Amino acid sequence: MILTLTLNPAVDINYKLDKLKLNGVTRCSDVTKTAGGKGLNVSRVISLAGEDVCATGFLGGSNGELIKKHLKEQGLANQFVEISGATRNCIAMLHDNQQTEILETGPAISKLEQNKFIDEFQELLTNCEIIAASGSLPQGIATDFYAQLVDIANQNNKKFILDTSGQALKEALPAKPYLIKPNQEELEQLFNQQITKQFELITALEELKKYKIPIIVISLGAEGLLAADKNKIYKIIPPQIDLSNPVGSGDATIAGFAVGLKRGWGIEEVLKYGCTLGTLNAREEKTGYINSDKIEDYLAQIKLEVIKEL
Ligand code: ADP
Repeated sequence: MILTLTLNPAVDINYKLDKLKLNGVTRCSDVTKTAGGKGLNVSRVISLAGEDVCATGFLGGSNGELIKKHLKEQGLANQFVEISGATRNCIAMLHDNQQTEILETGPAISKLEQNKFIDEFQELLTNCEIIAASGSLPQGIATDFYAQLVDIANQNNKKFILDTSGQALKEALPAKPYLIKPNQEELEQLFNQQITKQFELITALEELKKYKIPIIVISLGAEGLLAADKNKIYKIIPPQIDLSNPVGSGDATIAGFAVGLKRGWGIEEVLKYGCTLGTLNAREEKTGYINSDKIEDYLAQIKLEVIKEL
């Protein structure tokens, strides 16, 4: 079983509008509301790739109920901690050939709710081999929360994949998650400088190796992935595709890594599989979705090169 963590989930609301009237009224008849949050995208893609998954995190209010209903409809097992606050909305408006987003910060999590989550996490760990944690931390939670969870996972010999950014990522590095996957922007944030050229990306990977994290990946959109383990630096190149919507591709990549690790594959297979699922997501209109029938076909088209032996 793979456990996914979504600590700050959201109901994603999409409004399709002809025109957005600023300082006026815009009526909308094309509305969709779905269970959102990076960890829930990861869960969906893991399930589409054929592995058992359980989603956890915090949920509250009527949005919490809506998310649980959607997860049930999608056949995704979940065990969220109930909170007194209300799960947030994230609104995307497509209008005038543009997209405008409004992202609520979300509810604050009390100390009591955090402790309840830690207890729940420890219990859920007993039935899973891999943990994939995605996204930002909710309000009220200390920035070392992921570091605490990584410590617990390591004490239990479970592999913890961490896909987050900013201070939460920085503080979790010394705790040694099993795999991290910043994208280029998140990497630049981490180092507080521009990192664009391949040699600069490789230098950043080598710099991060001081934390002794077993697998460090940088995702580079259409250019694929750069990755490092103890011995080598790898470049993974996806095929050219008819791009539909790359939102959620990083989440699908994480799902691929989790599935590969769960199946006990070696690093090269894990990296190629992550790149495959990320690429498949970018072909789809829906966020955090892949066409499972295409996995083998795309996997065969992914190129992996060892670009440096360490
Ligand atoms: P994030 O969503 O975290 O920013 P990326 O945009 O780097 O992540 O995408 C993750 C992975 O998804 C890439 O490494 C690549 O495999 C795949 N991907 C994303 N965009 C494209 C694209 N335009 N063409 C092919 N693959 C893509």
